[in-house]
Amino acid sequence: MTMKITRSAGVVFLSGVIDESADFSPLLQEEAPLSLNLSGVERVNSVGLRSWMRFMVQWGDKTLKYLECPVVVSDQIAIIPALRGIKSRSAHVISAMIPYECYACQHQEDFRVTDSQVSPQPDPKALNPECPKCKEEMELVNPGQLSIFEP
Ligand SMILES: [Zn+2]
Repeated sequence: MTMKITRSAGVVFLSGVIDESADFSPLLQEEAPLSLNLSGVERVNSVGLRSWMRFMVQWGDKTLKYLECPVVVSDQIAIIPALRGIKSRSAHVISAMIPYECYACQHQEDFRVTDSQVSPQPDPKALNPECPKCKEEMELVNPGQLSIFEP
């Protein structure tokens, strides 16, 4: 399923696979600030990422908000700064799924983290949530991943 764009109550939803057929151009008609809910994104490939970055260039410095990023998206935002904006950090991550691992029992789970849990001061529950299996503290799988929430 290729990328679909739908709208509901002032939020634009992207869903499906962001690949060579993904067309971001309809988003350029939207007014800023643009709230993009990414919860339905299943996969992102390198060609799709290039289209996304081209959109970021065209969107410019206007405010963009990413809501409900799945791990496939939060992973990309963590390693590709252009997805936070080209000239300035005009794109803000409001909420995202972040992978954690428990070193006591090896349990892995993704937790939803919001920007207010990380900035200005990281909430200990966002850094080390309690393992649902053994109650020990879990660790981030990718230690730098909460940086996606930096203002
Ligand atoms: Zn555990």
